[in-house]
Amino acid sequence: MSTGRPEPLFPLFAGLETLPGIGPKTAKLLANLRIATPKDLLLTLPEKGIDRAPVDSVQDAALPGVVTVPVTVRRHMRAPSNRQPHRVEVEDARTTFHLVYFRGHAKALEELLPVGERRTVSGKVELYDGLAQMPHPDHVLGEGEAVPPFEPVYPLTQGITNKLMIRAAKGALARLPPLPEWIDGPLVAERNWLAFAEALARAHGPEGPGDLSPQSVARQRLAYDELFAHQLTLALARATARTRPGVATSGDGRMRRRVLASLPFQPTGAQMRSIDEIDADMGRDRRMNRLLQGDVGSGKTLVALMALLAAAEAGGQGVLMAPTEILARQHHEGLRPLADEAGAVLELLTGRDKGAERAAKLAAVARGDIQILVGTHAVFQRDVAFHDLRLAVIDEQHRFGVRQRLLLGEKSERTDVLVMTATPIPRSLALTQYGDMDLSVLDEKPPGRTPVTTSAVPVGRMGDVTERLRRAVAEGRQAYWVCPLVEESETQDVTSAEERFRSLRAALGEGAVGLVHGQMPPAEKDAAMARFVRGETGVLVATTVIEVGVNVPNASIMVIERAETFGLAQLHQLRGRVGRGAAASTCLLLYKPPLGKTAEARLRILRETEDGFRISEEDLALRGAGDVIGTAQSGLPRFRIADLEGQAGLMETASSDARALLAADPTLRSPRGEAARLLLWLTEQDRALRLLSVG
Ligand code: ADP
Ligand code: MG
Repeated sequence: MSTGRPEPLFPLFAGLETLPGIGPKTAKLLANLRIATPKDLLLTLPEKGIDRAPVDSVQDAALPGVVTVPVTVRRHMRAPSNRQPHRVEVEDARTTFHLVYFRGHAKALEELLPVGERRTVSGKVELYDGLAQMPHPDHVLGEGEAVPPFEPVYPLTQGITNKLMIRAAKGALARLPPLPEWIDGPLVAERNWLAFAEALARAHGPEGPGDLSPQSVARQRLAYDELFAHQLTLALARATARTRPGVATSGDGRMRRRVLASLPFQPTGAQMRSIDEIDADMGRDRRMNRLLQGDVGSGKTLVALMALLAAAEAGGQGVLMAPTEILARQHHEGLRPLADEAGAVLELLTGRDKGAERAAKLAAVARGDIQILVGTHAVFQRDVAFHDLRLAVIDEQHRFGVRQRLLLGEKSERTDVLVMTATPIPRSLALTQYGDMDLSVLDEKPPGRTPVTTSAVPVGRMGDVTERLRRAVAEGRQAYWVCPLVEESETQDVTSAEERFRSLRAALGEGAVGLVHGQMPPAEKDAAMARFVRGETGVLVATTVIEVGVNVPNASIMVIERAETFGLAQLHQLRGRVGRGAAASTCLLLYKPPLGKTAEARLRILRETEDGFRISEEDLALRGAGDVIGTAQSGLPRFRIADLEGQAGLMETASSDARALLAADPTLRSPRGEAARLLLWLTEQDRALRLLSVG
């Protein structure tokens, strides 16, 4: 996005070739580091540093290590053959050692290091046969020249040296125009933060290891800038959504009362609270944009149904979208009887509906005869037209990215939106992903859940496991058997699932075992699911298609094969499929030894706790933010500087500050607002800029 970029920023967005020392070739290589403009260079900070403070003698240094030391050149020992190095004997304040050059040009070296002269050399020194030597010094300086005592080391790529990066970063820094402060003044003062330009200068010119720490004032500030820009985007999206006119939807409660009366249980306090929050949002003539977060089994579906019924009571329609066919069908089966009880018409629409049947459903939706539509993303296809759509509920949001969700919001103009996620995520990440939404949390599980006993079992004991399973099935219990994820290849997963299916059938009997995987013909998949739900099959072998949402309360055993190949969140989700009924449940994590350190930690955490929030915090610590939800599908931004693990608290501050700024200055036209616009340009928050340009 280039239109409207403020003029002072032009030099920072010029081609890289405009910087000293960078030609077209280098510019191309820098693209591998996500560097396309001088501005990108500014925001690419050194990862490490090398201490080059000079010492008197290599004897003072811990070896091997980088040493900077003044020396007198004593003699050159030319390489006797091509395979041997050229050596230069030098003397520091207390000892002599060698500079070593493989394939060095003797003449050039003799010129660089004339015998009898003083030089300062800097490089890695190691002991070789008891003798200190410095192979290929990084720096050889004449008298009066000095190396920076602490040298920044940048992320590098093929063809890009650290020297080049240092020079390029310097060039980019020199381009930085004076910029007004966009962070709230009191915050800057309270944290002792440097101004933007000073923070950049310090981050690129560290004076010691402390300046490289994520906790340093310079890096904290720069990370904050990045998070603040991101939160501004989300806050703008949220503010825009909130001012967008919606339809006030208030049901009279007649349908909801009937459903609640027919249930064998009472809603939990958390469910009641969430229902009320949603009710209040829907009752306003603004668009609802709310996230319902609750661990597996916390009862999100009932909350969704109450909201959908409110839409129906008010004479409108609601839609519930699930990420998989299986889940959509299950919602349909579970909700249909309750909708019947309420006197509301509920139908299923998925990609499998074709031809006349589909046309008939679409017509009924268009007439408003279907009040609640449940389905996969098929429900949002262009030709699906509602009579009066009031509410869209999106289940298991973590399967969809931020972008998809935002697009959806733009598409269904005046519709209230409720998204539900079962991935308990740490607060910093929740803000990253959902900072544009209002939040309801189901932090209380329905009573009567039995804890799941989890144990890790090496694959070598497969025989025992099968035997236990045989006994359990004979007692009328049911089990899932999840097959390993082999790379990203669905085909291979399927092969391993089919193999396991055959071997378990051989061990447990033909009729006792069912199979579902993503490549089965849909009808077969349904049939296999249905047999398991009815209890006709005791064991269901599956790939991770059962990961989200599937609910079979009688299933009390979960076997996860090659558990070490799964992520922590995924294991937690899978385990959440059991422990839903009265029977004591078990989860067996079958692993192939030896376990790596992280895999071992994952399995241990899983054995220690069932608390989804604790698991998510541990997951974040083990894997890093991008991986917790899977960067590709999560739409999680790739921050250049901010580190969500090491600087978790900053996100929260950034979020509230962004919301506060927008509350005071919705169009960002105050002096601070204008400054914030510059930040949005610098951090390429295109979405925010677009919202501002239309707003
Ligand atoms: P999730 O939040 O994982 O989507 P579900 O909505 O599928 O959870 O609910 C899991 C199970 O708990 C369902 O069988 C549901 O009927 C049951 N349930 C929901 N709310 C309650 C409650 N308040 N008390 C008892 N059981 C409940
Ligand atoms: Mg659910």
